[in-house]
Amino acid sequence: FVDQLKKVSKDAKAIISWGSCASYGCVQAARPNPTRATPVHEVIFDKPIIKVPGCPPIAEVMTGVITYMLTFDRIPELDRQGRPKMFYSQRIHDKCYRRPHFDAGQYVEKFDDEGARKGYCLYKVGCKGPTTYNACSTVRWNDGVSFPIQAGHGCIGCSEDGFWDKGSWYARLTDIKGEGFGIEANADKIGFAAAGVVGGAVAVHAAVSALKRAQHKGDAQ
Ligand code: SF4
Repeated sequence: FVDQLKKVSKDAKAIISWGSCASYGCVQAARPNPTRATPVHEVIFDKPIIKVPGCPPIAEVMTGVITYMLTFDRIPELDRQGRPKMFYSQRIHDKCYRRPHFDAGQYVEKFDDEGARKGYCLYKVGCKGPTTYNACSTVRWNDGVSFPIQAGHGCIGCSEDGFWDKGSWYARLTDIKGEGFGIEANADKIGFAAAGVVGGAVAVHAAVSALKRAQHKGDAQ
C-alpha cells in the first residue's frame, strides 16, 4: 500500500486524506498499533495534504473540497491540523441544536431517563461535541436528515486526532458537580469547569455570559 501511495501521488498536485484512517490512522492505529497503521502525511512529505477526517467523513464535505479545488484551482484554507476551515472551523457544540439545553443546565443523566426523552444535552453521557471540529451539526448526513446527536448519542469526536485512545466515549469531558446551582449560574460554572479540557471557547462563553449579566445589572440600576 505504501508503494502504491507513493506511485499514485508522484504526479499529484495535492493529496486529500479522506477519512480519519488516511488523516490520522484511526481505530486500527490504537495503542499499541500492532499493524503499524500510518496516516498519509507520515508517508508522503513532498505534497500538500488536505485532511478530511471523520469516521465516517461527511460526503458533502468531500464533495465541497473537491469542487472548491476544481472551481478555484487552489487548495482551500486549512487549519493547523490541515483540515479545510470551511468545514472544520467550528465545534459540533457551536451549532448543536441541543445547545440551549447545555446553556440551561439541562442534561441527559442516563440514556433512558426523562432528559433523554426530552432531548436534553448529552454532555454528561460523554458527548465530545465541545472539543470536536466538524460540520456534523450543520451539514448532517443523508441529505441533512440526521447526525449522531440527533439520534440520541453523544459525539465521539471522530474527526479529532487520537480520539480512539482518549478513553471511553461515555466519559464526560470534565466532572461537573452541578447540584444546587441556579440555571444561569450552572451554565457559567460549566463553562469555567470545562475550560481546562474543552479549551478557550467554553471559557469565552462563560466570560460572555458574565459580561452580559454585568451589563444587564448596569442597565437595571
Ligand atoms: S455537549 Fe454535545 S449534545 Fe450538548 S450541546 Fe454540546 S454538542 Fe450538543
